[in-house]
Amino acid sequence: MVTGSKKDLVVVGGGIIGLSTAYFALEKGWNVTVIDRIASQGDNCSHGNSGMVVPSHFTPLAAPGVMGQAIRWLRDPESPFSIRPSLSMSMLKWGLRFYLASTKAQVEQAAPLLRDLNLASRDLYIQWAEQGIQSGLVKKGLLMLCNTDAMLEEEVVLSQQSRDLGVPAQVLTANEVEALDPNVTLQVKGGVYYPKDCHLDPELLNRSLQSEIEKRGGRFLWQTHVTGWKTDSTRIRALVTNHGEIAADEFVVCGGVWSEELVRSLQIRLPLLAGKGYSLTVPTPIELPSVCSILCEAKVAVTPMGDKLRFGGTMTIGNPDHVIAPEKIRGMIKSVQRYMPRFKPQHFEGISPWVGLRPVTPDGLPYIGKPSGWNNLTVAAGHAMMGLSLGPITGKLTTQLVSGEATSIPGVADRLSPNRYAA
Ligand SMILES: Cc1cc2nc3c(=O)[nH]c(=O)nc-3n(C[C@H](O)[C@H](O)[C@H](O)COP(=O)(O)OP(=O)(O)OC[C@H]3O[C@@H](n4cnc5c(N)ncnc54)[C@H](O)[C@@H]3O)c2cc1C
Repeated sequence: MVTGSKKDLVVVGGGIIGLSTAYFALEKGWNVTVIDRIASQGDNCSHGNSGMVVPSHFTPLAAPGVMGQAIRWLRDPESPFSIRPSLSMSMLKWGLRFYLASTKAQVEQAAPLLRDLNLASRDLYIQWAEQGIQSGLVKKGLLMLCNTDAMLEEEVVLSQQSRDLGVPAQVLTANEVEALDPNVTLQVKGGVYYPKDCHLDPELLNRSLQSEIEKRGGRFLWQTHVTGWKTDSTRIRALVTNHGEIAADEFVVCGGVWSEELVRSLQIRLPLLAGKGYSLTVPTPIELPSVCSILCEAKVAVTPMGDKLRFGGTMTIGNPDHVIAPEKIRGMIKSVQRYMPRFKPQHFEGISPWVGLRPVTPDGLPYIGKPSGWNNLTVAAGHAMMGLSLGPITGKLTTQLVSGEATSIPGVADRLSPNRYAA
């Protein structure tokens, strides 16, 4: 626990996970410095994402059928999900672990924890909004839209699981979907409505959270690249950066997909691959829905952000790089008009795609905890497609761990341990 004079905490990574950790650590009385190699408000995965806060998403990425679908989609260059195969040992190991984790039992075990984390995070977003942290939070729910009977059947099954977990979900006919959001012309078989889900504007959130952290005394060191560690037996003394060494009492790694590389020299194994995705933000859309939605077969998320409309999607698992695959963007654009017929490819002309690298663990669950062997190090990374949604609760739990307290959500130390792939 922090007692007496303030102790120094350094957070590596200024994405949503690092910012949320900094916010709660300041609240607990730590002296906080956030270090990131990007410039202030520079780009990372926490900027151009779809901004959805999703209690409806209680299934981790590693689930039965996902690997098979990814392999089938390898033949379709425009498909929304793919794995970029490589013969590197780390990629092969990651793939094997993903395959082994994709079981019904693991999904059933993970679901209540993901539900609790997402609901707690939603509450924290609401509290932040009440405290003046601007994010454009809209609590109007999420529509899962289907244009085939097969997908609608799958979504109906999931909606029952959701209700069984205590997360409300309502199956809607095509007419009921239209009535729910009359602002948009839709061509769907039906859908499922999750009233607890929310959406927000991630860029606005990042800006506002950063300025709140600064107001509360937090310090940012931008354009500061962490290249190594200075250690004494089981303690970390300092970070080595391009601007010299930075000492602290406690260190938290929130480096997104780069977290594995960040802790490698400490002999910590944190398998992560990049789940590359894109978003296209239409500044003056022909129609502006008021409820966010997911076009289920196409795996495209549609989020109104003020007057703009953002389309986000595709997941290509591989090593981290920001190279844009034009065929994936084409696939996304083509798929939109199958659900929203008024949106034509020309409405996307001249819009630069944003690229983001989701940090994906082999079992689809984040790493939140203390790696064994180091007394003053904590990791919070690997949130895959739920990092925005799980940001605030991750920051709160990480601060509890750093401060030597029990976590407010049980099961974290066990299920999300960063030591689960240590062997
Ligand atoms: C298209 C798309 C749509 C998405 N939509 C949603 C959504 O609707 N809801 C949701 O919950 N999630 C969504 N996500 C996922 C979400 O964006 C990520 O899970 C989340 O942003 C990860 O945050 P992070 O803080 O872990 O990583 P990042 O935001 O990537 O931040 C990590 C930071 O660490 C810094 N760093 C790394 N290494 C070093 C180093 N050596 N020295 C200094 N700094 C370093 C990086 O510069 C970076 O700024 C989406 C992702 C994509 C791609």
